[in-house]
Amino acid sequence: MKHTLAMVGFGGMAGWHYDLIEEFEDLTVAGVWDIKEEQRELARSKEIHVYGSLKELLADPAVELVLVATPNDAHKEIAIRAMEAGKHVISEKPVTLSSKDLREMMDAAERTGMFFTVHQNRRWDGDFLTVKKVIESGSLGEIYRVESRVHGSRGIPGDWRQEKERGGGMVLDWGVHLLDQIMLFFPDVKLQTVYATLTHVTNHLVDDGFTADLGFANGVHILVEVGTSNFINLPRWYVLGSNGSAVITNWGQDMQVVRAVGKTEEDVVPVRTAAGLTKTMAPRRDDSICTEEVMVEGGNVKEFYQNVMAVLEKREESIIKLSQVMRVMKVMEAIFESDATRQVINLED
Ligand code: NAD
Repeated sequence: MKHTLAMVGFGGMAGWHYDLIEEFEDLTVAGVWDIKEEQRELARSKEIHVYGSLKELLADPAVELVLVATPNDAHKEIAIRAMEAGKHVISEKPVTLSSKDLREMMDAAERTGMFFTVHQNRRWDGDFLTVKKVIESGSLGEIYRVESRVHGSRGIPGDWRQEKERGGGMVLDWGVHLLDQIMLFFPDVKLQTVYATLTHVTNHLVDDGFTADLGFANGVHILVEVGTSNFINLPRWYVLGSNGSAVITNWGQDMQVVRAVGKTEEDVVPVRTAAGLTKTMAPRRDDSICTEEVMVEGGNVKEFYQNVMAVLEKREESIIKLSQVMRVMKVMEAIFESDATRQVINLED
């Protein structure tokens, strides 16, 4: 079955979608609408049809699906208008700016019977999939802490991402990806507490980074961090279990795993440091640990659109569940509240 999509907003991310869609035989782009003439001109230069207005795009009976790829504050209104015009909708992340707005979007989907989903593409990141697999395999023993970080040193891009009203800031921009991944590790376990601090190193209007501690009912704590003034990066992933640890230092790197192999170490040789002595922190003997490299295999992000088409053809359920999107939205709200009140926020009990 062939499917046709139109794009609202033709900036950086829409270009990425356009290139990806070109790889499909059963999905085509009918055209785009952008409020900026320069972006419309860019589309024309690529021989992409440009509509005269959003209204004209929504009135085109050939369009079955609308991709909303505008700045974050515009997603809600465009998505609801599109569903009311009888179009299925893919919204870019973050779906919108609050759980109240998301509720309105979900109500519109129910009212109109249209399919509404969110492009949570980082579910197909190889590093995330590898960490998830290692956690689920039990090879590290009982997991008690996971740390997920993205670090850069260039501040926030100088566009709408610096404006609060437009949904700028790093919680909504990168946090939404990292939290979406984290919430898939223990989907049935309640997230009881959130404690977070935001940073404003380069920008006072929106957060340019944050650190959040998520406390789950199974005792696991997950630290999520986004930094944009970090000139030395900490590892992308650090996973601690009762029987071993795993680390992925950066995108494109494999996972290093170190596990205990059950040999007791009664003959620990204390380490002498300049000002003292320690047995606790002495390194392990080589025969009591096993070190391995786990290959990170990239997921196939084309599965996102394959799944969207299968949902439209009633062959599959959506991989991205709106209940998951809502859960992440509430965690982001708890992060803002925790920073503002300097309190631990009790979330799900
Ligand atoms: P961008 O600024 O490059 O592009 C946004 C475009 O939308 C601009 O061309 C702008 O003129 C246009 N626009 C603004 N308001 C509009 C309106 N009301 N109607 C029509 N067009 C409008 O931004 P971007 O980086 O492409 O980001 C767009 C969306 O994609 C954001 O929600 C962002 O969070 C998301 N994004 C997602 C990923 C991902 O990995 N999933 C990566 C980057 C961006």
